[in-house]
Amino acid sequence: MKHMVKLSNGACVPALGQGTWYLGDAVATYDREVEALRAGIEAGMTLLDTAENYGDGRSERLVGEAIRPYDRSSLFLVSKVMPSNAYGTRLMQSLDRSLSHLGTDYLDLYLYHWRGERPLAEMVTAMEEARAAGKIRAWGVSNLDTADMEELWAVDGGRNCAVNQVLYHMGSRGIDYSLLPWMREHHVALMAYCPLAQVGRLGCDLLGSGVLAEIAAKYGATPVQIALAWAIRDGNTIAIPRTGRKEHAVSNAGADAFDLTAEDCAAIDGAFPPPTHKEPLHIE
Ligand code: NAP
Repeated sequence: MKHMVKLSNGACVPALGQGTWYLGDAVATYDREVEALRAGIEAGMTLLDTAENYGDGRSERLVGEAIRPYDRSSLFLVSKVMPSNAYGTRLMQSLDRSLSHLGTDYLDLYLYHWRGERPLAEMVTAMEEARAAGKIRAWGVSNLDTADMEELWAVDGGRNCAVNQVLYHMGSRGIDYSLLPWMREHHVALMAYCPLAQVGRLGCDLLGSGVLAEIAAKYGATPVQIALAWAIRDGNTIAIPRTGRKEHAVSNAGADAFDLTAEDCAAIDGAFPPPTHKEPLHIE
């Protein structure tokens, strides 16, 4: 993959990875979804994002099946711990369960899924213990807004956070105002979730946008590919579209071929204006 992102722990990861929410839930589509993930891996999307609570472990098990033929070191596996499990020995228990579902003995990145009620310091301590035990290579957070990140930065060891995974697509770009600049300044990479706005389900019809269609036609691309190229345009963002279809996986990886110009981005800003003030973080 041409577009790569360097994380603060030195890892270099593809800017386009694969989401897996809802995958593994239905027996009828299981084989097709395994094939889709494998097609995505072979097309360069070797980063796979899952979570302990996706289908109560079914998504992690599906990923475990999909990655069986591949050399572990060629992959970058991400999973997430729920806040209710993100402290003390509970985190290690969750992590061991995720590792067993995935059929591996380490995660490349482990994320704190959303802000819970317990102090961030407890999560950081447990993450650092998992890192020292060699079970995770790096840790990060998800759905944390600017004030949460500032609070994390004041915690001992909190600055080891490599990634913040938050919702980001053209129709929901409130983080462009303060969170993203803060993350750039503090070398925290963005992992953009729902980069396709769930193809219209999130109330934003990206694929029906005339501007996207025009830019796509200019490059011989699809609107989905332009939406992904836009999401990763800053060189510090990883987008994780999810698909259960091989042909979509190959097409999504193909977004790597496109670099949007300043003129393209200005046209997109016209149709999907950047924020002019702090907006609350959107969470899906
Ligand atoms: P998404 O990636 O924005 O959209 C998924 C939808 O796009 C699916 O319905 C898929 O259908 C369709 N799609 C994918 N590629 C396509 C293509 N080339 N052409 C047409 N349709 C296409 O939504 P998401 O799954 O909610 O978000 C992505 C990932 O982010 C998740 O899977 C999960 O790993 C992560 N996530 C994290 C959080 C968090 O709290 N940290 C929250 C939400 C999501 P087909 O299967 O038919 O292709």
